[in-house]
Amino acid sequence: MKPNSPGASRHQIQNHFFTTPTEELVQRGFATCQQTMGKSVLLRGLIEFTNHCNCNCLYCGIRRGNQAIRRYRLAEEEILELVARGRELQLSTFVLQGGEDPEWHTDRICRLVERIKAFTGPAAAVTLSCGNRTPAEYRSMASAGADRYLIRFETSDPELYARLHHGQSLAERLDAVRAVQAAGLQTGSGFMTGLPGQTVETELNNILLSKELELDMVGVGPFIPHPQTPLASSRQQGLEATIRATALLRLALPQAHLPATTSAGSLAADGREQMIAAGANVLMPNITTKDFRKDYALYPGKICLDETDIEGAVQGLVPTLATLGKKLSFARGDAPIWSSSNQQI
Ligand code: SAH
Repeated sequence: MKPNSPGASRHQIQNHFFTTPTEELVQRGFATCQQTMGKSVLLRGLIEFTNHCNCNCLYCGIRRGNQAIRRYRLAEEEILELVARGRELQLSTFVLQGGEDPEWHTDRICRLVERIKAFTGPAAAVTLSCGNRTPAEYRSMASAGADRYLIRFETSDPELYARLHHGQSLAERLDAVRAVQAAGLQTGSGFMTGLPGQTVETELNNILLSKELELDMVGVGPFIPHPQTPLASSRQQGLEATIRATALLRLALPQAHLPATTSAGSLAADGREQMIAAGANVLMPNITTKDFRKDYALYPGKICLDETDIEGAVQGLVPTLATLGKKLSFARGDAPIWSSSNQQI
């Protein structure tokens, strides 16, 4: 496969989705990943900087309506300390994820990004993930030095989207994804598998929409019902849909960065390893202050809550990765198109 391969067509993805057995899909996803991304599994240090949220998404544990959780908000100095600690561990991407917290308005986020970048220089990339903002706000974030933005479309079914997000529309969310792209940020989106009300066709369309959007990064994980949400009594689906989606995304978007997600690891002990075996190439160790990690409870059973020694936790993954024919990489891991355009500058 050529390094800039366009990947499998819609038609091919559709055929694989309905007819190819999981084991074969996994093998194909892994082989494609080895060809396009090599053996490296990239690391991104995840900082969950606030769990205050104005949104009331039915599936999410930090939704506004959940009054049973302790709310927290990290201070700028604390975030900078986490970045400094991450740099000591050689991490070169920091992902700042949070709820839609009015106190963390875009200007404040931009000042923070400037301070992080002043500290790291171009050696580290900053990824933001803080929900729907205006096109001008995404441009400000890019001007402040942010490199990437994560904003999942969650589900490709417009009716289901509106039901889950209190009248907000899928069209608005997709406009936000496109605005992120237009602002010049490397763009990640993605979806949950096994959402209640999501049909097999929607699960396929999630993959096709990811391809259509030409995403640089696609995050996928299983929906896990949270007891303090309106979806508490929904059925927990297995991990297979996530594993199949990972392999299909790798075939559809050979050069996209695909994280082995914490939600997959929370549903099954080897969930992240299974995703890597199917074509994922990114791990996101959680470097949030330990005390607050449990409060960023999007779903129950979240892993890595007790790790104080992030370095040990990261290095602990090495033997498993080796058995999968993979090795850890501390590179920035930009989307390929960005790395090649940067080289030309
Ligand atoms: N406020 C940001 C970040 C959202 S939290 C934003 O709007 O983009 C990050 C992701 O966690 C969400 O995009 C969603 O896909 C996932 N998530 C939330 N609740 C979940 C649940 N119950 N099970 C699995 N994943 C969940």
